[in-house]
Amino acid sequence: MESGRNIGPVILLGPPGAGKGTQAKVVARRFGIPQISTGDILRDNVAHGTDLGLQAKAIMGRGELVPDNLVCDMVASRLREADCERGFILDGFPRTAAQAGWLDAFLESEVYEGKERCGAPIVISLKVDYNEVLRRLAGRRSCPTCGQIYNSNSHPAQVRGVCDKDGSELIVRKDDREDVVRERLRVYENQTRPVIDYYRSKDRLYEVDGLKEVEEVSRDIAAVIEQAAGMQKQIARS
Ligand code: AMP
Repeated sequence: MESGRNIGPVILLGPPGAGKGTQAKVVARRFGIPQISTGDILRDNVAHGTDLGLQAKAIMGRGELVPDNLVCDMVASRLREADCERGFILDGFPRTAAQAGWLDAFLESEVYEGKERCGAPIVISLKVDYNEVLRRLAGRRSCPTCGQIYNSNSHPAQVRGVCDKDGSELIVRKDDREDVVRERLRVYENQTRPVIDYYRSKDRLYEVDGLKEVEEVSRDIAAVIEQAAGMQKQIARS
C-alpha cells in the first residue's frame, strides 16, 4: 500500500455484477484511499435501523434507486471525513445524471476549498455484457461480516459457503434474487447509463474490459489511475 500521494476522486462505474465492489477494494488497498460504497453504507443503515435505513429498506428490496437527495446528503457527510483528503474511490455512486451533476458541484465547492486541488474525478467504466452480469449475480455470495464477495462459479470460497477471512457463513443478498436482479439491470439501463454518457461528453471517461481475469482487470484499472493522476499533476504544474 502507498500513502502520501494525492490521487483525488476516483469513480468506478458499471452495471451490478461488473466487479465494482471487488475492484474498488483492490484500488483502496493499493493507493491507500478509502472505498466509499453507497450500497454498503445504505445496507449498514438498514441493519442499524436508522431513519435513512428505514426510508431506504423497501426501495432497495425492490431493486429501485434511493432518492437522490438522501444519497447525496449521505455521500456529502462521508466525503467531508478526514480520510478522504488525499482521494477516495466511489463505488455505486453516482447512479443518476443528477447525482453526477451534484458531485461535480460538490467537489468544486467544498472538498478542495482551502486545500491543494487534486483534479477532477478519474472516471472508470467497467464493461461487462448483460449475460455475463446475470451469470455473475446468480452465483454471488457475500460475507455479512467483512463484505468480501465470492462467486460460486468464478471465485468460490475455499470452504463452500464460508468466508476465507473470518469464517462467517456466506449469504445471498436479498437484492441478488433473480427477479430483483432483472429490475436492478433495468434501472441501470434507464438511470445509470446516462451517467456514462455524462462523463463521456466531458471527455473524462476511461473504459476497462471487465470480462478479463480479476487480477488483469485490477492491473488495467491501476494503470488508468496512474496515468490519469500523473497527467493531472502535470496540468496543475503548468
Ligand atoms: P449496490 O450494492 O451498489 O448494488 O447497491 C444496492 C442498492 O442500494 C441499489 O440497488 C439501490 O437501491 C441502493 N443504492 C446504492 N447506491 C445508490 C445510489 N448512488 N443512488 C440510489 N440508490 C443507491
